[in-house]
Amino acid sequence: MTVRWLFGDQLGPHFLDAPDQPVLMIEARSVFARRRFHRAKAHLVLSAMRHRAAELGGQCTYVSTDTYAQALDDVAEPLSVCHPTSSAALRFAVGRGDIDVLPARGFATSMEVFDAWVKSRGRRRLLMEDFYRDARRRLHVLMEDDEPVGGRWNFDADNREPPPRTPTLGVAEPEWPIEDEIDLKVRDDLDRWERDGHVSFLGSDGPRRFAATRGEALALLDGFIAHRLASFGPHEDAMLSADPWMAHSLLSAPMNLGLLDPREVVARAEEAYHRGDAPLASVEGFVRQVIGWRDFVWHLYWHLADSYRDLNALDATEALPDWFSELDAESVDAACLSGILADVRDHGWVNHIPRLMVLGNYAMQRGWEPAQVTDWFHRAFVDGYDWVMVPNVVGMSQYADGGILATKPYAAGGAYIKKMSDYCRGCRYDPGTRVGPDACPFTAGYWAFLHRNRERLSGNPRIAQPLSGLDRLSDLGPLLAQESARGSSAP
Ligand code: SF4
Repeated sequence: MTVRWLFGDQLGPHFLDAPDQPVLMIEARSVFARRRFHRAKAHLVLSAMRHRAAELGGQCTYVSTDTYAQALDDVAEPLSVCHPTSSAALRFAVGRGDIDVLPARGFATSMEVFDAWVKSRGRRRLLMEDFYRDARRRLHVLMEDDEPVGGRWNFDADNREPPPRTPTLGVAEPEWPIEDEIDLKVRDDLDRWERDGHVSFLGSDGPRRFAATRGEALALLDGFIAHRLASFGPHEDAMLSADPWMAHSLLSAPMNLGLLDPREVVARAEEAYHRGDAPLASVEGFVRQVIGWRDFVWHLYWHLADSYRDLNALDATEALPDWFSELDAESVDAACLSGILADVRDHGWVNHIPRLMVLGNYAMQRGWEPAQVTDWFHRAFVDGYDWVMVPNVVGMSQYADGGILATKPYAAGGAYIKKMSDYCRGCRYDPGTRVGPDACPFTAGYWAFLHRNRERLSGNPRIAQPLSGLDRLSDLGPLLAQESARGSSAP
């Protein structure tokens, strides 16, 4: 049996061929020295790796070093590794020539099956909805013979409720992890590395909010299925300023660390539906995120190849301003942006809607360079990895691929944020005002974005109506002057 080299996102039992397989883990500090990650993310990854090494005991050789190459050069036995999750890591592993690189694990659809699905499409678009339905049939999830349970594939229409008029959703809290001596040692090490000037981090670190062991991940999954899944669906696209967690599972972080297999996660959700513990719309919405969107993004990352990350269809070249990249929530008056930057600063996490419709939306409106936006999301989020963020940010959030992934830009004004959140009630701006001291920066920014990209977007029928709305704006001139003067300053 080869020695299995485990990356820090391959930590579950399914990354070993046998429970007693010898393991090599490498804690390479150069990873943190190269980029300025959120400190909670550095803590989570190191805690997860060290916990896994402690579980494996004498079976695991754990090397703390500067680079992977230094540790690998000292290994005499034959090595194998499961397909790494970034193109750079894959190039490195394959390029050495002395490591057996195995197929990917930790996803519900294999690369071979995805390739066959792409071929079967011919010239048709690669649509997530079609991929997801194929996965449901193939994996027999929420199916009755060949038909979807309940007679519908898609319950999105039931899962777009605005938030309740209460400060929180009122569901049970997630199963928070309890820190131990491994976490204390990680925190000490991070303090020391920062003091020594080796690394610097974003945001704050603690208490650790995300599962770092398989035991913690299973407890989180149990709690979600029992207490939160039923409430997940209706408000999955809503935001509450005092309740960043709402009924979200928080399972993306442990799944992306490889602690849980997505098939066991959806199996648990499906069982809850069949027991009558959760409504179909909630269960379907959750299953869609796990074996639909998560797997689709993973496969697109490899299918679209490395050049995809540099696409910039809207020619957006502005640099991220410091107040945004440094998570300086206090310097921002806009209640939505300030509150969400504070949540990212404090937790390294917000759900998919603040990511897409507030942070990403603002970045696209302001013309920030997509590669910088992708890098920021990768570094600032505990569940952000190259494979997650390149398709999600370049394609979905910034429309930098010109429409390969999304059929239209996810640009929206303050009216959307007002409908789907409670932020506007406490904001100094007015979502219905375009020009003047009360003008909402999202509403004004939306029209400025459409004006700037009018020609680039003119061939897209899904955006034709908003583009024609530009002609009816009597205050477009003052609005453009106002937004030009705002520049990159904090709104
Ligand atoms: Fe955000 Fe505008 Fe609403 Fe303020 S008014 S919270 S800036 S959308």
